[in-house]
Amino acid sequence: MRDVCIVGGGVAGLAVSIFTARAGLDTLVVDGGESILARNASLENYPGFPNGVDARRYLQLTREQASEAGATFELGHVTSVEAKDATNFEAGFVLETEAGEPLEARRVVAASWSDSEYLVPLDVGRTQRGSKHFVSVDEGGRTAVDGVYAAGRVAGEPHQTIVAAGHGAKVALAVIHDSDANFYHDWVVPEGYFTGRGREVPPACEEIDDTERRRRDERARTRLLEAFDEPLEEVPTMHPSVERE
Ligand SMILES: Cc1cc2nc3c(=O)[nH]c(=O)nc-3n(C[C@H](O)[C@H](O)[C@H](O)COP(=O)(O)OP(=O)(O)OC[C@H]3O[C@@H](n4cnc5c(N)ncnc54)[C@H](O)[C@@H]3O)c2cc1C
Repeated sequence: MRDVCIVGGGVAGLAVSIFTARAGLDTLVVDGGESILARNASLENYPGFPNGVDARRYLQLTREQASEAGATFELGHVTSVEAKDATNFEAGFVLETEAGEPLEARRVVAASWSDSEYLVPLDVGRTQRGSKHFVSVDEGGRTAVDGVYAAGRVAGEPHQTIVAAGHGAKVALAVIHDSDANFYHDWVVPEGYFTGRGREVPPACEEIDDTERRRRDERARTRLLEAFDEPLEEVPTMHPSVERE
């Protein structure tokens, strides 16, 4: 049984996975298709990219970051989530996918804009707006069912990438908190930042010396230079109702 299963490997789901995996939780991302962001032509409002970034490249690099953090991935469209024991949600959940073996997880995060039909058996609390269903959550992304969370657009967040990513991170922190993981902040700090004040390095924080800081910077620059060296072949996905020649 996994600690966390995230349904949807788009913007919010990947952000959740980076945080939960870095916190040491066994994290699986199940994705059944493509992020809606793949339809974007140029992502120009995500902080850190002064002239924008190709949205598909952003998704690729974020997936790579989640992998590096220790998250694992499985392709599959989730069709239902049910409690293993309807009287005790702590026993975890079983996720059915269209193809493949059922998956088990202690906690489930729905990050699956625009599908939440698979949550119907759990009665998490969904509201309909137009043709879409949104999942009702508290400030930490918790639904009415203990152990089930929602993140990103499906949780009613505004339709913007940075908001979905930020919400994913916030929901991950709630998951980590509820999992009783030993956690203070996910921070990397210079050597001595805590220990220089006679404090122990708090859980999930890391102190690194200057040699290690330079090594990581070198590795990061090398990877980014390589990643941005050539334009991507992939083009934006068109809205399905637009007719193309
Ligand atoms: C044309 C277009 C242009 C945009 N341009 C911008 C922009 O310039 N700037 C900006 O800030 N935002 C932009 N956005 C909005 C941005 O793409 C979304 O707000 C953001 O992607 C929402 O993130 P999310 O994780 O909630 O959903 P998504 O990124 O869509 O991720 C949801 C994931 O869940 C998966 N999934 C769904 N159902 C299931 C299931 N049952 N089982 C398994 N997996 C499932 C999907 O395959 C998908 O990968 C644009 C959106 C569109 C449509």
